[in-house]
Amino acid sequence: MAGSHERVLKCRGRLVLAEPGRRVKAIPDCRTESSGYLPDELMLSSGFHSDLRKIQCYGGSKLKATSDVVVVGAGPYGLSAAAHLNACGVNVRVFGEAMSFWDRNMPEGMCLRSPWEASQLSDPGKSLTIDAFQAATGERVSRPIPIRRFVAYGHWFQSRAVPNLEQRKVVEIEKNTAGFRVVLADGEAVRCGRVVIAGGIGPFAVRPPQFGGLPQELASHSSEQRNLSIFRGKRVVVIGGGQSALESAALLHESQADVELLVRENTVQWTWQSPWLHTFRPVGAVLYAWPDVGPAFISHAVARPNLYRLLPRQIQDSWRGKSVRPNGVGWLKPRLRDVNISTGLAVISANARGDQVDLKLSDGSHELVDHVLMATGYRVDVRKYEFLSASLVSALRLIGGLPVLGRGFESSVPGLHFLGAPAVWSYGPLMRFVAGADFAARSLSKSVVRARRRIVGRSIVNAVQRPQSVAVSRGQEGQ
Ligand SMILES: Cc1cc2nc3c(=O)[nH]c(=O)nc-3n(C[C@H](O)[C@H](O)[C@H](O)COP(=O)(O)OP(=O)(O)OC[C@H]3O[C@@H](n4cnc5c(N)ncnc54)[C@H](O)[C@@H]3O)c2cc1C
Repeated sequence: MAGSHERVLKCRGRLVLAEPGRRVKAIPDCRTESSGYLPDELMLSSGFHSDLRKIQCYGGSKLKATSDVVVVGAGPYGLSAAAHLNACGVNVRVFGEAMSFWDRNMPEGMCLRSPWEASQLSDPGKSLTIDAFQAATGERVSRPIPIRRFVAYGHWFQSRAVPNLEQRKVVEIEKNTAGFRVVLADGEAVRCGRVVIAGGIGPFAVRPPQFGGLPQELASHSSEQRNLSIFRGKRVVVIGGGQSALESAALLHESQADVELLVRENTVQWTWQSPWLHTFRPVGAVLYAWPDVGPAFISHAVARPNLYRLLPRQIQDSWRGKSVRPNGVGWLKPRLRDVNISTGLAVISANARGDQVDLKLSDGSHELVDHVLMATGYRVDVRKYEFLSASLVSALRLIGGLPVLGRGFESSVPGLHFLGAPAVWSYGPLMRFVAGADFAARSLSKSVVRARRRIVGRSIVNAVQRPQSVAVSRGQEGQ
């Protein structure tokens, strides 16, 4: 119990007593839903209100302190980040539907292009792997990894490492002098000192303007079609030359659709045509690093984001382009044997003709089809995250819609972090893939913990030097 002239402070997720001239000591069993007196500066400057609710400041105002950190998104990056922050004892609230983008916005029957090692979510002990998932659940995961199994793995990971996930949508994030205010769809507002955006690429789907005038029944982006079997017996044109376009074409063909793939480039690029170059260790380990992102040799720099960051900007940009350019994984090739692939052709215009689409192509020809599937990828621009307030967006330093991030993935707005694809300008192309989640989660949690130590330590020192500010007399604690 706090005696006269002792002050109740917060340190590393615990309430502590600070007495002038003496070391702090922890108050046993004093964690959540506790009340106590705190110096204003600790509440307002640190943003670390862990485990404290309804704290009365010595100034007399009531603050509702609900969280140290809010994570927005529960895909591979959000879940991995939350797993690490949870393990560090940070009071984190995590919002989003687990693996929802994979569950709803990728086609049924798809397989992951990333190899086994590069498809793991990250927990500090590296124990929640796909192997561990297989052992715990008895669910066998084949290679390449089927999307259903990957989604199930994500849910299993979440249930173990992020049980505090709240399946709620964030609708607005704004910042004021006291920290961030995160508003949820149901109207609750959460105050916190830090926000980690792991909202994925959903809002960044590229829809070429030629198809802008068509209704969704005639032209849709690949992220809008989970079940491609609805096109059975229909004539469908798939636009694009990347893995998503190639795999969608294969799945449509296997669903008995009459499918044609239209590729703007003159050839379809393939990777993993000779799997042994990647898997035969003495050779593979020299050519490609474990995440296998990017061309031979470049892959090693991509796998080390801290090293990648140090390269001259021109090289970073050039290697980023080479690492994420559209291509297909070799194992798709046999599935496309009977699919009509037209290369060097682009769509000039598209017009509705009854319940069909008339496509005018760059060679002057016309095609009448039942549906156009735009597998045209994603262009990241965080200004399209609707939940970011206008003032927050205007305070961000952006290069072409990509935030410039410093240590711990922190943006130019202190306390605001971006993980996943928005981090590619600063941390390289690995961030577009699940494989980057481990680096991102470790780097983020390290920087959050470091900042917390710095701030809490300073606040305690300041408070000890000013004993008159927050004297708690016997009997007042717990109010
Ligand atoms: C067809 C396709 C195939 C791919 N295959 C691979 C592959 O094989 N290997 C690979 O490494 N990468 C692959 N990728 C890339 C993949 O999307 C990313 O690697 C991965 O999803 C990034 O994870 P993330 O957590 O950043 O985003 P996501 O997985 O997209 O997760 C974002 C989460 O944020 C949530 N969210 C968004 N807005 C809000 C909000 N306002 N409030 C609350 N929650 C919100 C969403 O619900 C979602 O759960 C593929 C992408 C596509 C499109």
